[in-house]
Amino acid sequence: MHIPIRVTNGPFRACYDSSRKEIRCSRSLLALLWANAHLALSIYERVYEQTRPGARCVLNLDDDSAANDALELVHWAFTSLESGTIDWPPHLPGPSTSDRTIATASRTTRLFIYALAFVLHHELAHARLHHDRSTVETEQDADRTASRRILGWSGALDDASPRFILRAHGVVVGLGTICGRQIARGAFRSPSHPRSFDRLYHTLDDLVPYPHHPAWRMAAALLHVYLTMAGLEPNPTVYAHAKDCVNAYCDLMAALDERTTTSSSRRRRQPQACAAP
Ligand SMILES: [Zn+2]
Repeated sequence: MHIPIRVTNGPFRACYDSSRKEIRCSRSLLALLWANAHLALSIYERVYEQTRPGARCVLNLDDDSAANDALELVHWAFTSLESGTIDWPPHLPGPSTSDRTIATASRTTRLFIYALAFVLHHELAHARLHHDRSTVETEQDADRTASRRILGWSGALDDASPRFILRAHGVVVGLGTICGRQIARGAFRSPSHPRSFDRLYHTLDDLVPYPHHPAWRMAAALLHVYLTMAGLEPNPTVYAHAKDCVNAYCDLMAALDERTTTSSSRRRRQPQACAAP
């Protein structure tokens, strides 16, 4: 199956056009994904790569200009890219000429590539599964199909291997970016899509049952930062593992969502037992 990809101008957008049989993806969405990949990696490198699973993680942004730049970049992306105009702040990090080949690309750009791969595979899944309209069920199917395809559902990749972790992190950035945008806007409902945090939780739950897996750790880090940026900093709490932390943050967003809406279509996430040492 050959599906052309058309890169467009304008607001954030990725979709499969079933009448033209093409995928469309906007440049502003590419910029948004790169900025969020940079933030995810900056926080992950500072906190989670420095601590063993189960140890307390502390993020201290005081005197950390690089982390503050990553936060400023994402704030710019969420607020200034909405219009579709890309005017990249020259004093902040961005893609460079070395990113033109995978061999010389930065860690951020490699992560961005897998985040973009998740987005494109999601749209490709709509085409392969012959979805002619967007519903909660078709979106969940597309998320599951895309993430399994990226992660190599054949079992060829060990889930502790660097290749698996990079790809899983790409899925986290792809879905985490949507969470960040919805947190910033304070609106989680859509008539056709599941809530972003439910998409993130259920997709990861399908892929990586090990609750200390780096994918859960990056998801916890990203959600914590997004909530803090929106003035909703979670109370300091000790969690058994990163998956529990992500579930607690999802509960926080669900409570926020349910305060602003009367109906709830939320599918309850079940607490998971620790599946592996
Ligand atoms: Zn979709």
